[in-house]
Amino acid sequence: MPRHIVCLTFDFDTQSGFIARGMTSATALSRGEFGLVGAQRILALLKAYGMRATWFVPGFTIESHPRACEAVVRDGHEVAHHSWAHVPPAQQTRAEEEADLVRANDAIAALTGRKARGYRSPSWDLSENTIDLLLAHGFIYDSSLMGADYWPYRARRVDRNADQLVARRLSALRVRPHASDRAAGT
Ligand SMILES: [Zn+2]
Repeated sequence: MPRHIVCLTFDFDTQSGFIARGMTSATALSRGEFGLVGAQRILALLKAYGMRATWFVPGFTIESHPRACEAVVRDGHEVAHHSWAHVPPAQQTRAEEEADLVRANDAIAALTGRKARGYRSPSWDLSENTIDLLLAHGFIYDSSLMGADYWPYRARRVDRNADQLVARRLSALRVRPHASDRAAGT
């Protein structure tokens, strides 16, 4: 029988994603709280099949729900970086982004005994500084980009102006942007 290899990952955001978007009503927060219920079920399922996964956990979740995060570590799963409070880096200054990166990594180190090796941006949205900061802080991989599914690839550090990049590529291919695209500014 062929051996299949899969990479399972889970984002353990709890309330952080809602709070980051200003959704702080009781219902929105309860949706985040349900993450604790879901995490228990996922942990039980993974344990039943003897599988280990990667959990991307914001520092907010580690600080707010320590018992639930300890259960993730106890079951042997990797804990990876998912920001401090689920604020997309593209909305932050470089100093803010780095401060959050360090703060959340310190929380992961306190929980697991080691700093994170992997990073997934909240909302998958990298800033122009993110890759440099990940390199500076010893990360091995990022899980935010979507240029391939099965194979890892090297993140480019120069995609700062997507409009210019796309225009150059279209020009090289001798393709003119569609009129409706130009009207929409894309
Ligand atoms: Zn998330």
